Amino acid sequence: MKALVVAGASLGGMNTVQSARSAGYDGPICLVDPSPVLPHDRPPLTKQVLAGEWELERARQPVADKLAEFDVDLRLGVAAESLDVAGLAVGLDDGSRLDASAVVLATGSRARSLPDATAPGTHTLRTGADCLALRGELDLRPERVVVIGAGFIGAEVAATCRSRGLEVTMLEADEVPLGRVLPGGMGAFMADLHRSGGVDVRLGARPEAILTDDHGHTSGVRLDDGEVVPARVVVVGIGAVPAVDWLAGSALSLRSPAEGGGVATDATLLAAPGVVAVGDVASWPNPLFDGEVMRVEHWENAIDQGAHAGRRVLAELDPKRWDNPGGFSSVPWFWSDQYDSKIQMVGRARPGDEPVVVSGAPGEDRFVVLYRRGGWCTAALGLNRPRDLVRARMAMSESLAWDGVASLF
Ligand SMILES: Cc1cc2nc3c(=O)[nH]c(=O)nc-3n(C[C@H](O)[C@H](O)[C@H](O)COP(=O)(O)OP(=O)(O)OC[C@H]3O[C@@H](n4cnc5c(N)ncnc54)[C@H](O)[C@@H]3O)c2cc1C
Repeated sequence: MKALVVAGASLGGMNTVQSARSAGYDGPICLVDPSPVLPHDRPPLTKQVLAGEWELERARQPVADKLAEFDVDLRLGVAAESLDVAGLAVGLDDGSRLDASAVVLATGSRARSLPDATAPGTHTLRTGADCLALRGELDLRPERVVVIGAGFIGAEVAATCRSRGLEVTMLEADEVPLGRVLPGGMGAFMADLHRSGGVDVRLGARPEAILTDDHGHTSGVRLDDGEVVPARVVVVGIGAVPAVDWLAGSALSLRSPAEGGGVATDATLLAAPGVVAVGDVASWPNPLFDGEVMRVEHWENAIDQGAHAGRRVLAELDPKRWDNPGGFSSVPWFWSDQYDSKIQMVGRARPGDEPVVVSGAPGEDRFVVLYRRGGWCTAALGLNRPRDLVRARMAMSESLAWDGVASLF
């Protein structure tokens, strides 16, 4: 009997497996991932594990303990290399070919890097191994850590390094951090937060080269104005790219970087007959946002899409037995912990959406900003207002109508 093949054993893939088993699928499942160990849950990697508060083992994926009960043929250390969409088969980099009953694409993202970010002492952070490598160098108490990029990964690394008592310089090329995620200049509070936390924040700072010493070890970063910021440890936190290279020759439709990247699916997460995409890699028209195409790199999205994708793929296997769950409607949601602050955002703002402060004020230690697009509330951003954000999220999952969400404040 052909297996349901899941490429990627992280949050999206594992939750898809859990969902398929919960729905009663008892056929074979093959789960492949190039990671030599079961991928870790990623949020603690910039927080508790990097801080040295948790051992890596504690950052197990929520579903990992149930894997044995799910009776999965787990193949670690092997990557999916090609996909035959018409024949439903996955080519692996060990030279084998898996004929599949259906295929789930859960290959997520990889860290974006810089061409010269190869010397010892320069890091990106995506996996448990990345985290331990960086943590090992932080344990040696370098005089300064330079973080390139003030996005969420870079900002969390900077905050964690400060909590370890290290000197940190954070370089951000734009004049305001997070301009794409928080339009209308709302990311300015992040720079303030980090300055209060003791980080040397440089906005409009463009790294030109990562420098090395005579031994080939990282020694600093040269900016485009010629200034050199010395550092034994450099962390490149300039975002992630969807891991779709292996699908380039397939018949699937891949979105260009300008379109947000990823695998194009329909509203139900179906990329082609028998092929479903989930998590960071999926680019789908979100029915709740009137079909706006989204690709969401958030923890909870991978879990929720996994729950949906498991049922969606079963409807491909046997539509008489399993109903098509329909469109995946969702209000994206993420959190970020930095210092003692909790930053949360629900929804998805686009450039041009108008930020409206509805509680507190940016610059204070608590506030809520809603984003308005015509008669819609497209997003809510909160600093240390978790209950308000839960309420906004609940309201938005019912309707994005501005009046309904704004009336909560
Ligand atoms: C350090 C870090 C901290 C984060 N913190 C937060 C947070 O605080 N809040 C939040 O909302 N989100 C956070 N995120 C984002 C969140 O973890 C991701 O959105 C989530 O992991 C996505 O799950 P995924 O399964 O889609 O992809 P991934 O977790 O990227 O997993 C994809 C898996 O596919 C495997 N793979 C890749 N290529 C292939 C191939 N060719 N064949 C087979 N397998 C392949 C990879 O090895 C990997 O295990 C964080 C991410 C990182 C990296």
